[in-house]
Amino acid sequence: MSDQTESTVREIALVTTGGTIEMTAGSRGLVIADGINHNLLDGDVIPANVRVTQIQFSSIPSPHMTPGIMRELCLRLEELASGGKYDGIVVTHGTDTLEESAFLADIYLKKQIPVVFTAAMRSHAEMGVDGPRNLRGALLVAANPEVHKLGVTVVLGDEIHAAGRVTKTYTSNVSSFASPGYGPLGFVDQDRILLQRMPLWRLLLPPGELSMNSNVGLVRIASGFGAREIRFSADCEDKGLVVEAFGRGNVPVDVAAAVEYAVDKGTVVCISSRCFIGRVLGVYDYSGGGIDLEQKGAIFAGDMQGHKLRLLLMACVGMKMNRREISELLKEL
Ligand code: ASP
Repeated sequence: MSDQTESTVREIALVTTGGTIEMTAGSRGLVIADGINHNLLDGDVIPANVRVTQIQFSSIPSPHMTPGIMRELCLRLEELASGGKYDGIVVTHGTDTLEESAFLADIYLKKQIPVVFTAAMRSHAEMGVDGPRNLRGALLVAANPEVHKLGVTVVLGDEIHAAGRVTKTYTSNVSSFASPGYGPLGFVDQDRILLQRMPLWRLLLPPGELSMNSNVGLVRIASGFGAREIRFSADCEDKGLVVEAFGRGNVPVDVAAAVEYAVDKGTVVCISSRCFIGRVLGVYDYSGGGIDLEQKGAIFAGDMQGHKLRLLLMACVGMKMNRREISELLKEL
């Protein structure tokens, strides 16, 4: 092989964690394949200019992922990214919690190589399997030297999404992953990567060792519901709590009182919305309205989804940020 050809080869680390992309048919339903899954790369999955090293991180369904395991994954990715051996990293993951692992990696990783998450909505055992195509797309994206500028990305269904924005929208459809309100950053078209948009900014954790405090709760408000759960979280001495409020960030009167109770007990209470597009903001000045919640000491968190905000808060508390520092960070949203 000439030097020129050799220099175009991109070395990609394929980090496997489990999920449907690794599953096969069991006697009652889909089960995780045992051990390292060689089938992942069968067929035409590896693009011409790519050399893949497969690294098994775990082999679990993604509902079994925990913030602790996600942290370990982030540390492993950081190690691979800084080792100088790879031009890019692809992570395969179950779709259920993929957006959480990808988000934590996005706010933590500082290294300048592409990190791309992918998955399958259908296993090898099902008709119309999507895993091989998604993995091929992810390898192509990870092989593109421009992609690190996008932060951590998620590639499924020929679309490239920002980890901070993407979410699983559909339980079963292969076009499940979308970035509501933002759209994809680009596309995979056969062997071409079309980068169309670039995020203008990206929320990053301050430098330091990644640590996750598990005493952070999440309460989704519904009519007549939520106050008891918030008080319970505070009584359990949770260090942080995400409240998924209505609309612009408003809650029932008894929930507002519970928020005040939690704040007074020292819990850092952050407000997100149960709407899936748009920012929370204190615009309503009634009891339980956003202005009232802010006055009671709750921190508004822009348009970040509750489950991602919880991971962020777990990391902030784990990394010993105080309430003022967390509030400053969330002002960026
Ligand atoms: N339940 C599976 C998981 O998240 C779904 C998938 O991988 O698509 O592991």
